[in-house]
Amino acid sequence: MPAKLRLRLFPRAESAVLRGHPWVFSDGVKEQNRPGEPGEVAVVYDRSDRFLALGFFDPLSPIRLRVFQVRKPVLVGEAFWRERIRCARALREASSVFGSGTTGGRWINGESDALPGLVVDRYDTTLVVKIYIPAWLELLDSLEAALREELHPAFLMLRLSRNLAGLALDRWGVSEGFRGDSGLDPVVFEENGLLFEAQVRQGQKTGFFLDQRENRQRVGEMSRDRDVLNVFSYSGGFSVYAARAGARSVTDLDISAHALESARRNLRLNASASRLPPVEHHCLQADAFEWLRSSPASTYGVVVLDPPSLAPREANRSAALEGYAALASGGIRVLRRDGILVSASCSSHVHQEEFFDTVRRTAHRSGRRVRELWTSGHAPDHPATFPEAHYLKAICLHLD
Ligand code: SAH
Repeated sequence: MPAKLRLRLFPRAESAVLRGHPWVFSDGVKEQNRPGEPGEVAVVYDRSDRFLALGFFDPLSPIRLRVFQVRKPVLVGEAFWRERIRCARALREASSVFGSGTTGGRWINGESDALPGLVVDRYDTTLVVKIYIPAWLELLDSLEAALREELHPAFLMLRLSRNLAGLALDRWGVSEGFRGDSGLDPVVFEENGLLFEAQVRQGQKTGFFLDQRENRQRVGEMSRDRDVLNVFSYSGGFSVYAARAGARSVTDLDISAHALESARRNLRLNASASRLPPVEHHCLQADAFEWLRSSPASTYGVVVLDPPSLAPREANRSAALEGYAALASGGIRVLRRDGILVSASCSSHVHQEEFFDTVRRTAHRSGRRVRELWTSGHAPDHPATFPEAHYLKAICLHLD
């Protein structure tokens, strides 16, 4: 057995860890006793040689260490991870994420649940376990046992982040798919009394955008008797809520035919289970930026803009802000008088206030009277305990 991997950090990185930041970048590591392998647990000692932290080491990632324990040494084994999973579960139970018509939500949100690089979502009785770092491949059997005992799924689907798939197969012989019994794909689950399918094997994220649940509910409540345009619709989540609330029509716009087919199925699923009144439904397969520039003005009573991340890196930040402004401007153009604009961003590099200000400024520039109805951040099943984890924000404006 090689000696334990031991690190020492530069003062700034050390202070950040002490303040609770879970990431140490490669330039924060001052010295280490040996090179280290992807997925190893490393022990960090402070400048006085006292125990500082434990974290998952990865020499292949610029985030060299993901810290999961600070100040107090612990014995890391299955019991330790089970306790972490129990804490994450208790948080969701305390905020009643599941129950009363909701069987889909996030059990584990990575670093913000002190389980770095691990996301676990529930869709009815299926757990989707998404792994972003090699450490969980090393610990896969005990992780799986712990999840089964603490969260009691009938089925467990393993998903891997794109950059991990090759390494997972080469080094651990692990690939994506159901572990143990095969469940259904898509999985149908409930959200606030509505039915949705999650594409657990191939879909984006873990198969559905669970993070927008509360915003979908808010938008639904405002959609009665309105024509709703759902831009970047994916599987039509916002439209299904709007339809239940009595929207006059719902239109899903997405560049992907696959997404629009799923949106059609989700509406049908709810209609045939009598969870929706009849509604006029349109699908538009188009590039949203182009479509919003050239479509007829003043057509919709509610416009939802929920694009994919426009700033995957810090360098894209100002271009992303221009993108959000262009979308808001197009959204406002197709919005009737007495209309509602909902604009969301999932780019962690774009900060909440600069995003809100961009949308507000664009709205004021239209010359219409603007009233701000609400802004929102993360739902309780998507906790964010450090700045980079805050990615989702949304703003809702009424325009005369
Ligand atoms: N609002 C959705 C999630 C949106 S995810 C929900 O609540 O579930 C982003 C979607 O944008 C994806 O479905 C993707 O296919 C679509 N997309 C990406 N680029 C696009 C573009 N240029 N024009 C239209 N749709 C696009």
